[in-house]
Amino acid sequence: MSVREFVVLGTASQVPTRHRNHNGYLLRWDGEGILFDPGEGTQRQMLRAGAAAHDINRICVTHFHGDHSLGLAGVIQRINLDRVPHPVTAHFPASGRRFFDRLRYATAYRETVRLAEEPVAADGVLADTPSYVLEARKLSHPVESYGYRLVEPDGRRMLPEKLAAHGIAGPDVGRLQREGALNGVTLDEVSEVRRGQRFAFVMDTRLCDGVHALAAGCDLLVIESTFLDEDVRLAKEHGHLTAGQAARAAADAGVRHLVLTHFSQRYSDPLEFERQARAAGFEGELTIARDLMRVPVPKRT
Ligand SMILES: [Zn+2]
Repeated sequence: MSVREFVVLGTASQVPTRHRNHNGYLLRWDGEGILFDPGEGTQRQMLRAGAAAHDINRICVTHFHGDHSLGLAGVIQRINLDRVPHPVTAHFPASGRRFFDRLRYATAYRETVRLAEEPVAADGVLADTPSYVLEARKLSHPVESYGYRLVEPDGRRMLPEKLAAHGIAGPDVGRLQREGALNGVTLDEVSEVRRGQRFAFVMDTRLCDGVHALAAGCDLLVIESTFLDEDVRLAKEHGHLTAGQAARAAADAGVRHLVLTHFSQRYSDPLEFERQARAAGFEGELTIARDLMRVPVPKRT
């Protein structure tokens, strides 16, 4: 059984608090691990969450503010110290290359692992694998910021009663799947489309086209809600979202499970984010992220 879950390593914007580490998130998707926005302290949060350097195949950085990237230095050195046996690919805004270089080579260490740098300079597909297509979309923040989205290709679900009605059983099912037809019965007649799962990671942005494009039809959407709605002017000024804005975008996009995170330390009651998200009309499953929480990708419908 393949595991698809989102592991929350940290949830604080700008500065860590007593209860919230800087950002950091690990998406486990089948056999792969994608680390998003490792802020300061991510290496230790991974230990606490039961995640190892070996679990990382890909690193995606939305932008080069410290709460989204200061952990790169530690995580990259740990990947090398542990001699992770597979190559690792890093995506980050191309305009922040000098920051990535500095963090990658912040101090002396022995490089043992192939770390491929694949900077993002425009919207589009970054990787095409059997279990997902990874895409980036530009966001709107004072420094260049990209959100990321995983889309699993659609598959087909065989329908046992239709197979039985046509007398197809045993190895013939596999033949029909491979060949598309068997004895005049087509695959379409005995199966239906199984929609691929979708996940998006949207950090540090005002409302913009990128937010809506990334969120569209997501099974699981992780999105920043730095501010509460009463501070909407501050949010716009600093290039962030409020709980209500994030939730409304998710509702419009048909998101099934919404995870709000990246909270400003100015607020003390996380329940207020939940209240505002509900008041904005989001009716799906809702999680106000806490450090070390694990969120499964929702089961297929
Ligand atoms: Zn941030």
